[in-house]
Amino acid sequence: MILLISDLHLQEERPDITRAFLDLIGGRARHAEALYILGDFFEAWIGDDAMTPFQASICQALRALSDSGTRVLLMHGNRDFLLGQAFCKAAGCTLLTDPSVIELGGEPVLLMHGDSLCTRDEAYMKLRRYLRNPLSLWILRHLPLRTRQKLARKLRSESKAQTRMKANDIVDVTPEEVPRIMQQFGVKTLVHGHTHRPAIHKLMIGDTPGRRIVLGDWDRQGWALQVDDQGFQLAAFDFG
Ligand code: MN
Repeated sequence: MILLISDLHLQEERPDITRAFLDLIGGRARHAEALYILGDFFEAWIGDDAMTPFQASICQALRALSDSGTRVLLMHGNRDFLLGQAFCKAAGCTLLTDPSVIELGGEPVLLMHGDSLCTRDEAYMKLRRYLRNPLSLWILRHLPLRTRQKLARKLRSESKAQTRMKANDIVDVTPEEVPRIMQQFGVKTLVHGHTHRPAIHKLMIGDTPGRRIVLGDWDRQGWALQVDDQGFQLAAFDFG
């Protein structure tokens, strides 16, 4: 059995989400071969060298899970793209490139965070290209801590203000982008998060039927995609 989750936005201000996550990794995830976390695991991440005690406790919990034999694979989201190898090493997890194709349920499946599918949001795509190129990443990682904290706050408040103003369809995936990228990677199934619109969408990739599975964000309830002998099951669960 494999579990996939995303968009937990873990933060000290939401102990209910943290508790639900600890319940998952102490329970159901122990029986999983692998746990995939497809981005925005943390609400914010300004560098592995700036881990708060809260973030360190999550790191240790992940370590306990990976030590128990469940592989943990982590993909960057738009909020935690500065998560680095130091965190992964300490947590015993593997950093997964966005996008990645893995073998899941007997077929190749494309995994993404999902923000790169929202191509109609041109301002965001431009910012993403700028922030995620290797030179910018290097500079960001080497900025003084206080500068990074300031920058993160600024980006977050700008993103909140802009999301309120943007039309609904701009902050969702671009419909034509989905079959295009699925064709490019030769898959019939795509799993992503980011949009906070959990669903299983049927679509056509040329003449071939395909599906796009959107993971839900953890806010009022948790979401997980479970892949086992029964197939792909996307379900919400209440916080304990
Ligand atoms: Mn996101």
